[in-house]
Amino acid sequence: MFHTRVTELFGVDHPIMQGGLQWVATAELVAAVAEAGAMGFITALTFESPEALRREIRRCRGLTGRPFGVNVTLLPTMRRPDYAGMVRVCAEEGIPVVETAGDNPESLMPALREAGIKVVHKCTSLRHARTAVALGADAIVIDGFECAGHPGEDDVTSLVLIPIAADALEVPVIASGGFGDGRGLVAALALGAEGINMGTRFLATREAPVHERVKEALVERDERSTRLALRSLRNTIRVLHNEVVDRILEIESRPGPTDFAELAHLVSGAVARGEVWEKGNVDGGVFTAGQVTGLIHDIPTVAELVHRIVAEAEAIVRHRLPAALA
Ligand code: NAD
Repeated sequence: MFHTRVTELFGVDHPIMQGGLQWVATAELVAAVAEAGAMGFITALTFESPEALRREIRRCRGLTGRPFGVNVTLLPTMRRPDYAGMVRVCAEEGIPVVETAGDNPESLMPALREAGIKVVHKCTSLRHARTAVALGADAIVIDGFECAGHPGEDDVTSLVLIPIAADALEVPVIASGGFGDGRGLVAALALGAEGINMGTRFLATREAPVHERVKEALVERDERSTRLALRSLRNTIRVLHNEVVDRILEIESRPGPTDFAELAHLVSGAVARGEVWEKGNVDGGVFTAGQVTGLIHDIPTVAELVHRIVAEAEAIVRHRLPAALA
């Protein structure tokens, strides 16, 4: 067992979290993560309204008595999310931790603090982490360039970003981007983090509520199978390479500024929800995946995955590393 400030903050057994996963982190996955002794987060933007989020929180409570949180992502979106309503529901439902991500969480902080909700802020640079801590964040998830989804525009990898954040911040740091096994957990702890966040790795589990073809694609593909889209709009997303991504990159490569209107129907999360996640057409839309795809070789249950990671990490710390000491 690993005991850190992160396991204490979350009140869980293992320093592993499953952060925002749009369309995927619903009650089934989050409850499975909680039951495995790790910390799961329901992704609020997956639900069309605060009341739908409330129903999902209650559904998750019906599946687990263990703690779980809610992810509130503040990135550009084609909808107009009711962020204040989401936070109100989290407060009313007694959610202990909210993961904010994607932009400065300042507008949400007063309501979160007033409700006594712990805040874990996910960001991709030290300057944004410092801002969130100054606003009252209780921990920082630092997302290296390897990550799925939005890596920011600085392109600094986890290997450098994690120790920089751990050195500079007094709050606990959770390492994100490139993590999927026990070696990664030990590396994160060695670099000064007190836990790991995984997204893509949790996508390839039995409980992830998506089509089997998506999970099989992650097993088949390797570490070179992701691409960076929307870079021309400074809203970069790391996604699994497919035909739709090639069309987006072709449009972005044309001379002159990119017009998002030309890309909207291609990058739409609503399209991906139907085509990719539900029908299993992995060329039917854009979906995020990290470079950790190269480390995914099977589709275990969430409990098998979490316990395997912890056991592997313990074996490394107890046996491999001491044996390497001269
Ligand atoms: P969406 O369908 O609204 O948008 C699809 C993509 O286009 C997203 O990457 C979004 O950031 C981008 N986008 C939207 N409007 C834009 C604009 N005006 N200019 C530039 N880029 C724009 O997104 P969705 O699938 O409904 O997801 C909702 C939000 O959650 C998005 O912000 C998305 O980036 C984010 N997301 C989060 C995760 C996560 O793990 N937390 C994963 C995937 C997506």
